[in-house]
Amino acid sequence: MLEKARKLLKKYYGYSSFREGQEKIMLSILNGCDTLGIMPTGGGKSLCYQIPALIFPGTTVVISPLISLMKDQVDALNNLGIPATFINSSLGYREVEARMHDVSRGRYKLLYIAPERLEADSFRELINRLHISLLAVDEAHCVSQWGHDFRPSYLAIAGLIAGFSSRPAVAAFTATATKEVKKDIGRHLAFHKPFIHVTGFDRPNLFFSVIRGENRRNFIFQFLSRNKGEPGIIYAATRKEVDNLCEFLQAKGFAAGKYHAGLSDGARTKVQEAFIYDEIQVIVATNAFGMGIDKSNVRFVIHHNMPKNMESYYQEAGRAGRDGEPGECILLFSPQDIQVQKYLIELNESTPERRARDYRKLQSVVDYCYTTHCLRHYILAYFGEESMPDACSNCSNCSDDSELMDITVEAQKIFSCIWRMQQRFGLALVAGVLKGSRNKKVLQLGFDSLSTYGLLQDYSLNEIKDLINILIAEGYIMVTESQYPVLKLRQKAGPVLKGQAPVYRKVIREEEKAPDNELFERLRRLRKDIAQQEGLPPYMVFTDVTLREMSESCPAGEQDLMAITGVGEVKLQRFGSLFLAEIQQHLQEKGEVADSVENARQSNVGERG
Ligand code: ADP
Repeated sequence: MLEKARKLLKKYYGYSSFREGQEKIMLSILNGCDTLGIMPTGGGKSLCYQIPALIFPGTTVVISPLISLMKDQVDALNNLGIPATFINSSLGYREVEARMHDVSRGRYKLLYIAPERLEADSFRELINRLHISLLAVDEAHCVSQWGHDFRPSYLAIAGLIAGFSSRPAVAAFTATATKEVKKDIGRHLAFHKPFIHVTGFDRPNLFFSVIRGENRRNFIFQFLSRNKGEPGIIYAATRKEVDNLCEFLQAKGFAAGKYHAGLSDGARTKVQEAFIYDEIQVIVATNAFGMGIDKSNVRFVIHHNMPKNMESYYQEAGRAGRDGEPGECILLFSPQDIQVQKYLIELNESTPERRARDYRKLQSVVDYCYTTHCLRHYILAYFGEESMPDACSNCSNCSDDSELMDITVEAQKIFSCIWRMQQRFGLALVAGVLKGSRNKKVLQLGFDSLSTYGLLQDYSLNEIKDLINILIAEGYIMVTESQYPVLKLRQKAGPVLKGQAPVYRKVIREEEKAPDNELFERLRRLRKDIAQQEGLPPYMVFTDVTLREMSESCPAGEQDLMAITGVGEVKLQRFGSLFLAEIQQHLQEKGEVADSVENARQSNVGERG
């Protein structure tokens, strides 16, 4: 049976082997067992039920919580040549009837439905009459009240299962692996002795980093300048921050769009599509963005603010690099973020237990921001995976290539100024005194006669504020939680003032990334043109992985092209000749055509013969 599955994998998806866990999960489903597959985002959950759907007779019903994702998934399947359709509230009555009729005639291998449909008895009866071999429940954590996305209509799934005269295999998938969620899934889906498989949560292609106290706008500006054209997401904590940052980036000439719950549905859909279709490079968003996004070529996710817990962080950061190509996940931390998150917890009307739990989770993400050990190890240990080595050599703490700048003298001047102002004033005034400002308040309070007045006059006011923020983030200065926050020195500042300890600031090396190879860029442009003509997101034509492999091995004929990851039969027929021609054209222009013609001749001998 697995042999057949492997053949279908190559034929439709163009992949030559299954990933860790996919094989075990599929085997269990193919044997008709109830199955729970727990894999991180990008782990390859959808294949685990799509391939059995192709093998089983009849139809596979997929319950999926997000209408937007449903359409994308169905489009992607149709694009691979797999007959699939969906039914949800975006369709009118007649269309639903027509699709149900087609399903009953066996026209589709997969039917995606929204869980809300199951609440109508008439619809459940209709489904119960069909020949359903497999019921796949996507985002199965939505069935649990402990999960972060509880959907009451998921509770109707058990009723659906009970109504079948011949019970189909049931398979559930999620990226959430907590004990409570696992238990709830088993219980609410009425599983019979399920096979449960949890794959490792590591995402080796993602580089994690935490940057503390830096000027966030500057950082983002520099980062985007170094990564021109690479698609990415920037998460900010509030709508206002999203608006401001997006405006700033647009003014600097970046193709940026914004997404938050304060925008109209139309505006959100438009920007989401522009991002998916590679028409804008970055999307600046609140955490409202992302659940319905399947875009596989997101190359970075920057958090402009610290999120509320590690679960949200890993889910949001995990949207980078779903195609397996390198992705960067950067968290820009400022201690003020902690106050914002605490405020939000207090604002939530919840039980004392839930609040205590939220505070504990918040502390875990604060600890992540301050740890000096391996970030990947920290994340995986948080999710219960202790087997990870202590160092990963792929996070900012393990392979730090930033430079250290000695700022001991500046730190001493700042500490001394705070001390002389008797630790009774806030950041703006301290920075003003160090700058030597003629501000009314500075003069009224007589701070112009302090020995620290104007000690940092060679720096701009913003640079002084940035330095103070770094010293706050590194634990030398504390900010009181009062209505007018005041700067005070922490113990750690003592040895610095006495000249016994140095202070360093990390400076990111500003290396321009080596541009991708010329052919890769060329194929990327071709992909975009094809995508536009076909009305498809570019990553559905071919993923970055496929284009990179093509640009490296320069396939000369169809047989070579079929050997590349992500090239299946249908895509070969639809797009193969266009890509082969582009590669030939490139080689010709580079004068490398003589070799490749010979390759083509040899490679095509087998095909024609
Ligand atoms: P998930 O639903 O777990 O987030 P997806 O099913 O969307 O993940 O898969 C993520 C990406 O990995 C997709 O681009 C998918 O085509 C690709 N993928 C899945 N399985 C394999 C495989 N066996 N080999 C190569 N790529 C795969």
